[in-house]
Amino acid sequence: MKITKDLVRKTIKKIAPLVEKESQLKTNLKRYNVILTTPEEIASARNISISLAENFTGSYKVDFEKSLIFNRRFIFPKNFNCITKTFKMMISHEVMHNAQFEIFPYLITLTSNLKKALKTNPNDENLKKEKKSLDYLIEGDARLVENNLSKRYFSIQGDYFAKLKSIFGEEKDSVYTAGERILRDKFKGNRKDINELYTAPIEELVKIFSC
Ligand SMILES: [Zn+2]
Repeated sequence: MKITKDLVRKTIKKIAPLVEKESQLKTNLKRYNVILTTPEEIASARNISISLAENFTGSYKVDFEKSLIFNRRFIFPKNFNCITKTFKMMISHEVMHNAQFEIFPYLITLTSNLKKALKTNPNDENLKKEKKSLDYLIEGDARLVENNLSKRYFSIQGDYFAKLKSIFGEEKDSVYTAGERILRDKFKGNRKDINELYTAPIEELVKIFSC
């Protein structure tokens, strides 16, 4: 399947209502850019090898162009080789990120502040735990939503992430899988309870995700 900007836009349009239904969050996807990149560009932006970049999946970016106006970007590799169902999963994950940041924009500020603080104090255990807990919530919930949607609407035989895991390594993937597992175990997929985590104090998230 060849990924084109048009295909990305059409798929986002189809998937957004499903993400809204599943997450009970509004996606508000009105203005966004679709960018197709080469593996070389991904490799240099992420500081990874070109062979790893060739397998890079979706990437969603939101920047502050002007204060309070988001510049949203859906970034996909030009030559990524995947089946339609896998592509729908990737889009579900990235659209869920849009919903998270649309409704809870301070998550962006908090993530960036924690990153900055960790650069200055790389050994601060508290900061590490706070950053990890936030990643668990953001990535774990995006993974939870994409997996639930996949089961219901575009189920894939076998483990979609088995290949990615072998490429990215277990550690890189753990924030996704562990985050999803904790959300499933502790909240039984209850959307109301999970969505309340987005406004919970960071100390609360540390308690929930530190296990
Ligand atoms: Zn993600």
